[in-house]
This record gives sequence, structure tokens and C-alpha cells, in this order.
Amino acid sequence: MFSDYYMPVRVLSGKDAVLVNKTVFTKYGSKCLIVCGKSSAASSGALDDIKKVLNECEVECTVFDSVTQNPRTADCLNAGQVARDFGVEYIIGIGGGSQLDAAKAIAVYAANKFLSADGIYSEESMLPPLPVILVGTTSGTGSEVTGISVLTNESGRKKSVSGENYYAKVSFADPKYTYSMPFGVTVSTAIDAFCHAVESMLSNKAGEQSKMCSVRAVAPLWKAITEMHASNELPDKATRDELYSCSLFAGLAINLTGTCYPHTLGYTLTEDYGLPHGMACAAFLPSLIKRALEYKNAEAAEFLSMINMNYPEFERTVFSIVDIKDISMTKEQINSYCERCQSVKNFINSPGGFTAADAKAVLSELFLKNEGEEN
Ligand code: NAP
Ligand code: ZN
Repeated sequence: MFSDYYMPVRVLSGKDAVLVNKTVFTKYGSKCLIVCGKSSAASSGALDDIKKVLNECEVECTVFDSVTQNPRTADCLNAGQVARDFGVEYIIGIGGGSQLDAAKAIAVYAANKFLSADGIYSEESMLPPLPVILVGTTSGTGSEVTGISVLTNESGRKKSVSGENYYAKVSFADPKYTYSMPFGVTVSTAIDAFCHAVESMLSNKAGEQSKMCSVRAVAPLWKAITEMHASNELPDKATRDELYSCSLFAGLAINLTGTCYPHTLGYTLTEDYGLPHGMACAAFLPSLIKRALEYKNAEAAEFLSMINMNYPEFERTVFSIVDIKDISMTKEQINSYCERCQSVKNFINSPGGFTAADAKAVLSELFLKNEGEEN
């Protein structure tokens, strides 16, 4: 079978990875822009470590700390201008998926002065981005190892952009920066990683290499998620280290296969109902497994045996963790969401090949509260 494995990021992982790999920071220039959010870069300790190392290496830095969750293309465009104004030679992104994805996009805007905000999705003749170094602080998205940036466009819709321009040069993966995540963020980012592993495992594009990565992550993530849910407490440090490793394996898996329809439909729950990304995607996992039992029975059965559950138990457990009972949609809303779903890659790669009509059925079953309005 034909396979194409491409993952050009140097990943430096383990305790104090930033502090012991100083030379990385002099490799891409002597002036950089640090891209982060308001609090997590500082509370995780990552910003202090980075500043210390930059100071020791005599690399000048400017901090741009206003990257919000679900970063907008227009804000990244403005940050690209800031990078040009300061004449920086490379970008350091510190944070969760939001900041890491923003850093990737800012590096593209900084190098392409004439790009409009949403032009990032369509412009073909772009100059290469500034080099990017990433420092992860959540155990979820795997953005450290993917050539993907998920941005919110000027219409307020989440849309990803991917390819050669969206890989970091180097990613630091030190789990100590994830220890400051509060309980809710720890659970929802672990669920995001779990969705990546499951969606990749069941994707029509799954192959030997992607399966090695997805299968590595499924069972430990599910164990940690269900134990956190049962105890209502953060796990011990060894488990949190394992969560970070699993998020990277799951990231490697989706970098090969992409995700399935739970990610596309999940975006609507984040945009319009404020559900954290991981929870939003997980709302569609039971329907994915049901569909896989029909179209990819061996893989779905393998998945259920890995987590030691049958389908009804899995569905019940997911909906005890992911609370969607207050979300309701009108028929018009569902139709408008489905209009966005024509020829989406994630749909085509889902078991059985998912269509806009399938999306309508899934959304109606979960969220159309007024019975009799399904058609
Ligand atoms: P996030 O949106 O980056 O962060 C969520 C919250 O957690 C923020 O309030 C953040 O605070 C806080 N936080 C992060 N790290 C922390 C830490 N160590 N200690 C305390 N608080 C911390 O969450 P995420 O789930 O990592 O990223 C979600 C985004 O990634 C979405 O936009 C999603 O679409 C995208 N995504 C990207 C990929 C990819 O391959 N590129 C894959 C899946 C998802 P601050 O605001 O202060 O930072
Ligand atoms: Zn995700």
C-alpha cells in the first residue's frame, strides 16, 4: 500500500527541555516575537524559562500576549504586522492549541505583507513563513507536531489551514508546563486528544503508521479521562506526563489522516454555544462509533475492546462527561450548518463517507428538541 509519512518538526521533549537546549534559540536569528495568551504562559512557568534562555543567548524578544482562545485571522494578521514592525526573525508560540496555531499563522502573515486576513485560506503564491518554535502548555491538540492551524475567519467560523507552511521548526514538549492546567482544561484537552486518536483510527485514510500512533493513545487517554471524571480530581504527575505523550501521538496520527466529522460538527458547538473544543468534538463520538460499527465493523470492535466497553456503555459514559442537554437547535440552524458541509475532507474520510444529509440527521437527533421537525 502507498504511504507518505512527512513530519518535519524537531520535537524536544522531557523535563527542562527548554533550559537544556539553548542553542535552538540562536539558530533562527537574534530577534524574536513571543506569542502567548494572557495568563497560561506565565502560570505554566514556560514564559520565564524562555525569557531566561533568550537572555542568556542574547536574543532580543518582544512579547505579544493578546492571543485569545479560538484565534481570529484578523488578530493574527495584526500580530504579523507587529512582528514586521519589530523586525523579528522568528516566532516563539507558548500555550495551548490556540496560541500555537496563532503563532504558525502569525509567521505566515509576517512574511507576507500583502496577505489579507482570510487570504491565508486561499492565497497560493506566498513567501515561506518566519521560522516557528512552539512550547506546548496543554495536553490536547498535538499542534506541536501537526502542519495545521485552526483559525476563526472573518465570518466567525472556525476553519483550518494546513500544509508545509504550518509546521514548526522545533517544538518543546515538557509536561511540567501542563501541571498548572485547571481540572476543566485538563479534562477537555484530554478529550480532544482522545477524539484525535479515535477519529484517526477510524478514518478511511488510516494506515499502518497512523494506527501505530492512534492505538498508542486510545486506551491510556480513556482511562485517564474516566478516572478524572469519576474522582473529580486531577490525576498524579505520572498520568499527566502520559496525557501529554498521548496528545503528541494522537497529533501525529491526525497529521497523517486528518480528523473525521466530529471535528467539523464540533466547531459549530464551540462557535455558537461556547463549548470547549474537546467537549464539542466528543459530543459526536458516539454517533461516529455507531456509524463505524456499520461501515468499519472490525476497527470499531477493536476500538471498543481497547477501552473494554460495549457501545451503549461508551455512549452513556461520553454523555455523562460531555454535557449537551441545554443545547437545542432549530431546523433552520441545522440546515445552515449543513450548507457548510459540502465536500468537506473530514466527511469524505469518515466511515462510510459522511454527507451533509448525514450531518443533518446526526444534528437533528442530538439537538432538534421539537419532535416532528426533523425534515
Ligand atoms: P486553548 O484554547 O489553547 O486554551 C484553553 C484555556 O486553557 C485558556 O484559557 C488558556 O489560558 C488555558 N491554559 C492553557 N494552558 C494552560 C496551563 N498550562 N495552565 C493554565 N491554563 C492554561 O486550548 P487547547 O485545547 O489547547 O486548544 C484549542 C484550540 O486548538 C482550538 O482552536 C482548536 O480548534 C485547535 N486545535 C488545533 C489542532 C492542530 O492540529 N493545530 C488540533 C486540534 C485543535 P490562556 O488564554 O491564558 O492561554
Ligand atoms: Zn481537536
